Amino acid sequence: MPKATVKVPTPLRPLAGGVSEVALEGSTVGAVIRTLAADNPALQRHLFTAEGKLRNFVTVYLNDEDIRYLAREATPVKEGDIVSIVPAVAGGAPNSAREGRSSAKLVGIEPTVQETFSREELRRYSRHLLLPEVGVAGQRRLRQAKVLLVGAGGLGSPTALYLAAAGVGEIGLVDFDAVDLSNLQRQVLYTTADVGRPKLAAAKERLEALNPGTRVVPYEERLSSENALEILRPYDIVVDGTDNFPTRYLVNDASVLLGKPNVYGSIYRFEGQVSVFDAKRGPCYRCLYPEPPPPDLVPSCAEAGVLGVLPGLVGVLQATETVKLILGKGEPLIGRLLLFDALGVTFRELKLRKNPHCALCSADATQKGLIDYPAFCGVPAPGAAPKTGSVPEVEPEELATELRSADPPLLVDVREPEEWAIAHLPGAHLIPKAELPERVDELTRARALVLYCRAGTRSADATRLLLDLGFSNVRTLRGGINAWAEKVDPSLPQY
Ligand SMILES: [Zn+2]
Repeated sequence: MPKATVKVPTPLRPLAGGVSEVALEGSTVGAVIRTLAADNPALQRHLFTAEGKLRNFVTVYLNDEDIRYLAREATPVKEGDIVSIVPAVAGGAPNSAREGRSSAKLVGIEPTVQETFSREELRRYSRHLLLPEVGVAGQRRLRQAKVLLVGAGGLGSPTALYLAAAGVGEIGLVDFDAVDLSNLQRQVLYTTADVGRPKLAAAKERLEALNPGTRVVPYEERLSSENALEILRPYDIVVDGTDNFPTRYLVNDASVLLGKPNVYGSIYRFEGQVSVFDAKRGPCYRCLYPEPPPPDLVPSCAEAGVLGVLPGLVGVLQATETVKLILGKGEPLIGRLLLFDALGVTFRELKLRKNPHCALCSADATQKGLIDYPAFCGVPAPGAAPKTGSVPEVEPEELATELRSADPPLLVDVREPEEWAIAHLPGAHLIPKAELPERVDELTRARALVLYCRAGTRSADATRLLLDLGFSNVRTLRGGINAWAEKVDPSLPQY
């Protein structure tokens, strides 16, 4: 029986005993991943439906080929083959096949020959002008290019800085957040003095200070099905620096509908993905992931953490691809998904193919316009009140009173051990949310339970789970441990 090496992606490692790869016997890819799931029961529901079918947001590669374009689960395995599970990651996703490898020609950028550069500009761009691949003509293309960055966070920061430095004429920025102290670990557009300011005001100032020749156009709003086409339309290239699935699918779909290349990047803990989705020349994001994973199977960056330099690296790769597309030089990452692992310092490249039945970009596409993305991704509409109202809640002050009573509730902390180490409530019992289904026996139904997490979202989900399992006396701490620190115990750090 041949043995294959299965690469377990970071998000699934906690469910697979923490290993990054495992050698397993099996004659087919299906047999190998079913063995993996059998050895790690917690993985089962992530990989397979209740009917035992491989879930369609789980993409599996044999070496660098997507098994959907081989014999799917029946694809034979040879000794030494590598089977990779490539999860959809909201922090960025990939795509593209080498079919689009013929040298790039970007639509929409028509340099006019009359333009000249000032002495100051010739000096500023001299190291570009010396490159035969850029030169005066390429620098003009950069000056005439319009690039839209969706998200001015970890990925958008380095991308925006390098595009402005490179002399891109117009940079649109879509974001509506204010700068938070916790952003500064990776969002290098901002300084400590910017904390509390709207990101776009700070970003515009910083980028125009770097290059007064770059026009920065802020869109201080949430990208939505209502405004996306209008916002994207004037731009030549879209750079996806989003951190959630609804916006990622929206950016993909709007880019496909408008015929614009979408430079994709995503990050998770120590791993990044980069690709260029250009449906005219290759696949789109939906070709790779026809639908998103259910929200309870994907931790967000806020929950999972991310190495600060990782978005720097991935964002710089996105900026590189963007500049190449503008110049029409080199081989774009169309039809190719680049995976980067910072811990192992490895880059891997997978082939992406255009799905001949893609609902959006194929000849028989069924989707002709934008849809309701929060509903598609099974999450509450952006900006909507958190859905915690649907489960019983307790306010921090109220809980403080109950904990001093003769019959205090049992506190259950559903965060990760790393978060527990930052701060936790006295007497609490730690069961990370992902482990709750397997560890529910540790909780007694006889006692009142109060679940908490960082800000209240995970514990509300966990409360829903316990209610569904028949627990009756269970509530979630509204606002999480951060609200507790704010209202009850200011000695606890917020994070
Ligand atoms: Zn597609």
